[in-house]
Amino acid sequence: MKLLTENHFPIELACSKIICIGRNYIEHAHELSNPIPKSPLLFLKPTSSLINIDKEIALPFHLGEIHHEIELAFLFKESIAMGEEITKEVIHQSIYGVALALDLTLRKKQQELKEKGSPWEKAKAFDRSCPIGPFVCKSKIKDLNDLNFSLKINGHLKQQGNIKETIFNLTDIVKEITTYMTINAGDIILTGTPSGVGPLAKDDKLTLNFESFYELNSMLK
Ligand code: ZN
Repeated sequence: MKLLTENHFPIELACSKIICIGRNYIEHAHELSNPIPKSPLLFLKPTSSLINIDKEIALPFHLGEIHHEIELAFLFKESIAMGEEITKEVIHQSIYGVALALDLTLRKKQQELKEKGSPWEKAKAFDRSCPIGPFVCKSKIKDLNDLNFSLKINGHLKQQGNIKETIFNLTDIVKEITTYMTINAGDIILTGTPSGVGPLAKDDKLTLNFESFYELNSMLK
């Protein structure tokens, strides 16, 4: 799958992984009765989970109840090696841009796996679990640490957030990731979801807003 710019141009970067941050907004940790993490909680989605957000999105509803989690996604154009010294400058130089993404979750399956102390992949890494919008190039963004986004379902506001409200900022997140693994050019970081997560249903109309950059409308199938 080709990642796209907001002008619909394909981005010539091959993604090797999507690194997600769990419980990065306090209210969201509270709504699922989870403790506040002391360091960024990391998990991965495979590239087979990626789809572009289009006018229609077909989801595997037969797998169970799918929850929406709207998140900001950062795409890297340069790699950051494991153990490399992380500064704001290194991060800024390595980022291509920012998009809206959905970290779709089989919530009941996730609960079941959490209770058993098992990994979350079945709940988080299924095909189409990462619909992603077009990337806005960082040159068009004034402040990567101050970005508003929201999700409406059938016209009702369900989630809204600003990246500045996260428990861990981008520097904290990149430091934690590169302690354990290299971020390759083309990799994507999903930065966590604000409160308001809930179930999706067939024929829901999603409206995803990313500041003045874009608004996407999509029907679920
Ligand atoms: Zn998430």
